[in-house]
Amino acid sequence: SEAVKKSLDAAVSAAGLEAQVQVTGVGCMRLCCQGPLVEVKGEIKQSSVDKPVAEETLGTLYEKVAPADAPSIIGTLTGGETTVQKGDLAQPFFTYQMPIVLENSGKVDPERIQSYIAAKGYQALYHVLREKTPADVIDTITRSGLRGRGGAGYPTGVKWATVAKAKGDRKFVICNADEGDPGAFMDRSILESDPHRVLEGMAIAAYAVGAEQGYIYVRAEYPTAINRLQIAIRQAQRLGILGTQIFDSRFDFKVDIRIGAGAYVCGEETALMASIEGKRGMPEPRPPYPAESGLWGYPTLINNVETYANISPIIRKGAEWFASIGTEKSKGTKVFALAGQITNTGLIEVPMGTPLELIVETMGGGVPNGGIVKAVQTGGPSGGCIPASAFNSPVDYESLAQLGSMMGSGGMIVMDKTTNMVDVARFFMEFCMDESCGKCIPCRVGTVQLHHLLTKISEGKASMTDLALLEELCETVKFTSLCGLGQSAPNPVFSTLRYFKEEYLALIKQGA
Ligand code: SF4
Repeated sequence: SEAVKKSLDAAVSAAGLEAQVQVTGVGCMRLCCQGPLVEVKGEIKQSSVDKPVAEETLGTLYEKVAPADAPSIIGTLTGGETTVQKGDLAQPFFTYQMPIVLENSGKVDPERIQSYIAAKGYQALYHVLREKTPADVIDTITRSGLRGRGGAGYPTGVKWATVAKAKGDRKFVICNADEGDPGAFMDRSILESDPHRVLEGMAIAAYAVGAEQGYIYVRAEYPTAINRLQIAIRQAQRLGILGTQIFDSRFDFKVDIRIGAGAYVCGEETALMASIEGKRGMPEPRPPYPAESGLWGYPTLINNVETYANISPIIRKGAEWFASIGTEKSKGTKVFALAGQITNTGLIEVPMGTPLELIVETMGGGVPNGGIVKAVQTGGPSGGCIPASAFNSPVDYESLAQLGSMMGSGGMIVMDKTTNMVDVARFFMEFCMDESCGKCIPCRVGTVQLHHLLTKISEGKASMTDLALLEELCETVKFTSLCGLGQSAPNPVFSTLRYFKEEYLALIKQGA
């Protein structure tokens, strides 16, 4: 995409259109499978060019653009033709979306704070610091019904109120950007596309709970996100939006980035805080919860990237507006990363409660080349596999849990009829086995044994006794592991056993 942008800049210069045409580098435009994408918007005044601009070049999406395509795309602005593949902005992939978190993605330049400000950026923070008390802010977030987007779905307002009430000489705010589920790239895209939105959400949260220092914990595998966050923090500091006496108020807030080395377990909040403190990232038993005793023993608020990205629109448009979207218990929208055997891979943002079938078949376009969908895996290694027969289910926290899966952070991996579900369970178990920090025995030893049993079944060498052992050991690991990684590691086995047990039995029979 960078090469395409350079070529577009060069093509604008070569055509002498610098005064009329601006090439803006943006973040995620959502339809990843057709990237690099270029959207041509606006018009050139007739008097400024020899020929009038052709109507069809306005608001046009070009797909799979190569650097060499740039001159012909720029040429269309002055009446020329291009053979570059055109996309359809009116296709279901886009039209069923409700961008709230992603409203600026693909529109603002993430490396220019002015671009964010022009899109109503930092208005919510200004409004809060001028006109609202911390209690007002917490009340708004509570009434909105926002729940944490990192996986567990804990009510955000309740968490903020707990940190606000906790006693401590200092308080901290942390943004968990340690996205590590296979197939998940929502948080990376948000940070790369709209970093100021996350900073604004953190600043509002800090004001509400009484913190003056924030940390963004982001994995080293996300260099573009880190780079754009660094630029965004510097720009906000320069304009007095971060730092001391923000907007001439008495509120001070500083944000620093902490780069994680990529251990999956560091997404667990106590391990994440240990890592920020400079220790090895290992979970600790809870309680005490971070809201009471977190970073260096001080009250600490931890939310994930998408949760913070929801804050400024809630403040700008009101709690009632947000609460009117979604279902009774799951409010607002959710960003999902569509991946796997699906035609339209990319990011979607839909209201909570959208049926899975609409997401997979209509928006995602189903399996490529007329293939048949077998299941969808949601929630990463902690989640489960939902069979196609349950696709009429709405996507919200409760419905996914009832199906034996979970919302998780938003990864959605589509599998077609050729997928072996025992192998899927084995893949996720191998992931947990590799990522286990080794602190507690049920997870350290249990995941290895579970992986061994799944391999035995997959290779047709297992007996019914092995299957019984697999089920019993899954229960033990679930109920005796210290943290969420071990407690949820058996979930993909549970869900594949629940819906696809015949595949396990066929492999065992074959072995016998
Ligand atoms: Fe470490 Fe696994 Fe125990 Fe969590 S459950 S503390 S990851 S060994």
